[in-house]
Amino acid sequence: MSGPNEPGSGGQYDVVIVGGGITGMCLSWFLAESGLSVACLDHGRDSGSTANAGSMHVQMQSRLIRLFPDRLEDFKRTLWLYPLAVEFWQQLAADLEDDVELVINGGLMVAEDAEQLESLGRKCAIENSHGVNTRILDRGELQRIAPYLSDRLHGACYCEHEGKVNPLKANAAIEHRALSAGAAIHREVAVLGIEQGKPGFDVHTNKGNYQSERVVLAAGSGSGELAGGLGIDLPTRAEPLHMNVTDAAEPLIEHLVQHASRPITLKQLYSGHVVVGGGWPAAEGDGEAPPGVLSDSVQGNLELACEIVPRVASLRLLRTWAGVNPLVDLVSVLGEAPSVPGLFVAVPGDAGYTLGPICARLLADRMLDRPVSQPIDQFRPERF
Ligand SMILES: Cc1cc2nc3c(=O)[nH]c(=O)nc-3n(C[C@H](O)[C@H](O)[C@H](O)COP(=O)(O)OP(=O)(O)OC[C@H]3O[C@@H](n4cnc5c(N)ncnc54)[C@H](O)[C@@H]3O)c2cc1C
Repeated sequence: MSGPNEPGSGGQYDVVIVGGGITGMCLSWFLAESGLSVACLDHGRDSGSTANAGSMHVQMQSRLIRLFPDRLEDFKRTLWLYPLAVEFWQQLAADLEDDVELVINGGLMVAEDAEQLESLGRKCAIENSHGVNTRILDRGELQRIAPYLSDRLHGACYCEHEGKVNPLKANAAIEHRALSAGAAIHREVAVLGIEQGKPGFDVHTNKGNYQSERVVLAAGSGSGELAGGLGIDLPTRAEPLHMNVTDAAEPLIEHLVQHASRPITLKQLYSGHVVVGGGWPAAEGDGEAPPGVLSDSVQGNLELACEIVPRVASLRLLRTWAGVNPLVDLVSVLGEAPSVPGLFVAVPGDAGYTLGPICARLLADRMLDRPVSQPIDQFRPERF
């Protein structure tokens, strides 16, 4: 067996986890600290966890309503998980050695006119009937709690559970915990295929073969292809998305800010940098190349940011990048595949950075035969 964190040359483990993003890394930590021998394999491409904006999402994002109207009924039935996911992040952050800059100060989804505010009112009613506490603010209340916003705005939907985290710090701190718990994290290891052995699994990689009793697919957008090799239908896909960060400003933007009908998320880190994203497209990567930045997305995203928070117009763009958002059908996929006993899936639903840790906790408890604190049957992999 290769050493815990050597580049990887195969070996025998209780559990092999494919994917070292937020989900796979939390799962590695939770399983390893329970005494299992765990190898987490990651090829370092197309990771949502290293590209994301660090927004803690709880409200239904307007981009979902626009892009996936046919999926909304099922998605609404999963809303209850989001406030719990943020609560779990708060517990997790308190348990990490480093400050990962998790701040839950509330989120605002802003409306530019009466029609948008009415539609936010309907959204708010749906959320409240599905366990998510949101409320409408009129123009006066909005200006009072968020004076940094444009005074053109008509009102907003407010959710107290929303906020932000610094993903770079969180990824490093969680990896540190997984390593301290004894997990083997093997980077630059590409899983090429998984075979059912007798018993257990043979996991074939570019750096040798791994054997394990159980395998978890936590490979984000790469999960579907690996599942397909075992005859499991898991329709994951890669959505290339765009991000920006400005240079640092004085403390200004207290909340996570989104828009009722246009694609934007906007927030400010401890360091003062303003992170602007929210679902603007990026160009698909060619082969193994990462996705490319589109100039229309740079411009459109930043112009919208300046409309909502006028002070942003005086900041310089520091960096812009594109990354891969793993998509299934907006709803998490979590559990053991009945047709392949011992094969587990851990793909969080929409806003997967928010959901990753709680998904990992729930699946770890199921794998460890512990009581699972929330009902996860609605996420079962055989639903496709
Ligand atoms: C630009 C952008 C902004 C986003 N902003 C937010 C946000 O603000 N808030 C939020 O909640 N979510 C956000 N997301 C979504 C979020 O990043 C993802 O849903 C989340 O990171 C998924 O985590 P994961 O660990 O399940 O998968 P990933 O982070 O995608 O990790 C999967 C890992 O598996 C590895 N892998 C895949 N196939 C193989 C293979 N065959 N062999 C070995 N390794 C493999 C990949 O290298 C990758 O590291 C954003 C996404 C993008 C792209």
